[in-house]
Amino acid sequence: MDTYIGQTLLRMIKGDITSQPTEAIVNAANSSLLGGGGVDGAIHRAGGPQILAECIEIRKRQGECPTGQAVITSGGNLPAVYVIHTVGPVWKGGQHGEDELLASAYRNSLTLARKHGIRSISFPSISTGAYRFPVDRAARNALQTVRDYINSGADFAEIRFVLFSENVLKEFQEAWSELGTAGY
Ligand code: ADP
Repeated sequence: MDTYIGQTLLRMIKGDITSQPTEAIVNAANSSLLGGGGVDGAIHRAGGPQILAECIEIRKRQGECPTGQAVITSGGNLPAVYVIHTVGPVWKGGQHGEDELLASAYRNSLTLARKHGIRSISFPSISTGAYRFPVDRAARNALQTVRDYINSGADFAEIRFVLFSENVLKEFQEAWSELGTAGY
């Protein structure tokens, strides 16, 4: 599904984020930055050891990456030039700041991208795998955060959501149409 927010192409597709040719892809990392399962494991496998070597350097410099924050490395062997590693919240029932932390993960990823002059970026559905954030709520959060970010004057050429299953893609499409009709 393709749509526009101002000048920014917003694309939602089913696919594997490791094969996306956008300038940056976003990794749903954990605070250790030392790799994990899910999309994190897939990115390190496909991108090769360079990415982990850079993550280790970042850890030496600044320690762990707090939830909601983001760091950047090269893309190693990936088509993307950069990987932005962000840490989404673990779902603990919804009363522990999870919504705000998820929005921060998206916002801080976009801010880091802009700092590096990145014009196109792919996101996975952060926190909705091992971290168990409900997909419908996460989709609404992701799309609302990205839309508000762009509408605040920070445009990109393209922002892509690369969803790993038909079901998650459907949740994002539904969330987008609900946002559209909610009068935002
Ligand atoms: P988290 O720990 O933030 O929940 P996960 O990697 O466990 O992160 O899951 C986040 C989402 O990424 C899930 O929807 C999962 O299905 C999806 N995912 C897993 N592998 C890939 C991939 N190669 N490309 C895109 N999305 C992926």
